[in-house]
Amino acid sequence: MLLRQARLAPGRTAVFNGTEPWATYGEWAARSAALAQRLRDAGLAPGDRVLVFMRNHPRYLELLWAAWWAGLVVVPVNAKLHAREVEWIIDDAQARWGFVTREVAAERLAGLERQIDVESAEADALFAPVRDAFAVPVTERNANDVAWLFYTSGTTGRPKGVMITQRNLMTMGLTYFVDVDPVAADDAIVYAAPMSHGAGIYAIPHLMAGARHVVPASGGVDAAELFELGWRLAPLSTFAAPTIVNRLVEHAEQAGLGVEQCARAFKTIVYGGAPMYVADIERALRVMGPRFVQIYGQGETPMVGTALARAHLADASHPRHAERIASVGVAQTPVQLRIADAEGRDLPLGTVGEVLIKGDSVMAGYWRNPQATAAALRDGWLFTGDVGCLDADGFLTLKDRSKDLVISGGSNIYPREVEEVLLTAPGVAEAAVVGAPDAKWGEAVVAFIVVQPGAKVTAGALDAHCLAHMARFKRPKHYKIVAALPKNNYGKVLKTALREQLAASGPQEQSATQADAHPNPAKPEST
Ligand code: AMP
Repeated sequence: MLLRQARLAPGRTAVFNGTEPWATYGEWAARSAALAQRLRDAGLAPGDRVLVFMRNHPRYLELLWAAWWAGLVVVPVNAKLHAREVEWIIDDAQARWGFVTREVAAERLAGLERQIDVESAEADALFAPVRDAFAVPVTERNANDVAWLFYTSGTTGRPKGVMITQRNLMTMGLTYFVDVDPVAADDAIVYAAPMSHGAGIYAIPHLMAGARHVVPASGGVDAAELFELGWRLAPLSTFAAPTIVNRLVEHAEQAGLGVEQCARAFKTIVYGGAPMYVADIERALRVMGPRFVQIYGQGETPMVGTALARAHLADASHPRHAERIASVGVAQTPVQLRIADAEGRDLPLGTVGEVLIKGDSVMAGYWRNPQATAAALRDGWLFTGDVGCLDADGFLTLKDRSKDLVISGGSNIYPREVEEVLLTAPGVAEAAVVGAPDAKWGEAVVAFIVVQPGAKVTAGALDAHCLAHMARFKRPKHYKIVAALPKNNYGKVLKTALREQLAASGPQEQSATQADAHPNPAKPEST
């Protein structure tokens, strides 16, 4: 794919570092070819693993395509992981070389044959372009060969290596054009979310289309910087977790930007990876206009599960619009989707059960973990661990991860439903609901609330709001006002951390006023 672009448009700028041109397609190919050749010469053989423990960086792209050029398997690592966690992954994956950025990997990581700082003179030599990229052979790979060994976040135990094949990535790339967004050569993708996750592999459809790739100079998420980049380079497309979308929307509101100005900065914002609450997407559409598409997927079927199209989000006159914008959309083209019980038997339409996905985007299995593979993949169906239901038109509404379900007084309560209601209460900025052990009820619903700056929120007011909008038994029994919710690097609220916090402190009620709003803030890991 890279050679195809290097042939078609060798002189077109392909990669930007901030607003600075970093590489043309010809240069990108020449650098990836060079690095591939050097990796090969150093004895790395097809199928060997190369670790990438970096903040977002233009060399991320050159490295990915160098590794694939040489038939290697990329092991992308979340830049926020602790060195010991990374060493566990190095050992599990038996990764040979590791490429790092220095603020992410301050120390030498045990287990690597060679650790390269991509901003060092050593890296400059490795990435120095060959004169003729076309003369460097591309290692032939089978569609079933692993290309991307993605480690799960490991919130329920040791992380597992998800084996994503060449076919999985090709499927994801092509599907983007059908189910997410068409891409033209003068479009640009900006890497705001970590490239070790879905945001990084969205480079594939944008490379397929010969589009431009922009890495923010900050290497992270700065709303003002992203708007500025969009205005300077082209309306940008990006993948953003809901927390990032909210930050963009807040910035647009605070800076007084109209829909027109937002349209000049952003072409398409693809959101997913965690629940997007109805109140938030409505506000995003109002402030930034119809530039959103939702996707639902997971590491095991990366970026490909369902999609809620721009047109569906915009179609406010549809009789089921309210349900649709609360859903994650319909199955993406290459997959089938069904709702089943724990044994994998189909459940009737509208019934809540586990989401099962089958198709060419679904992983080959977990790395050296046949037991976990057998549990997750049965007859080709991926048991996602997500709980939801399908409507007659094929729209999937997610309830929660099965492990986040709260069972109180014998009734199932889906935290997401409660969160959706809490977010419509005046003064509430963020809400996360978990179950806490409770002698009387089995589990009690506890809500963690982040209050909007300057707002006043009381437990009594929240309770009255819940009583007005949902069944009594679903109401939180306790409220905890916190300064921020703990989130991982990919923007997911860490419910495990909230449950641990409750186990340590107990769920006792707190008067929910701004004055005592931050007695015990849950520390955010930030995105
Ligand atoms: P990961 O493997 O880290 O990408 O996490 C995947 C999980 O994130 C899924 O199994 C879902 O629980 C959640 N998720 C992904 N996309 C969405 C979405 N659009 N809405 C709600 N939850 C989502």
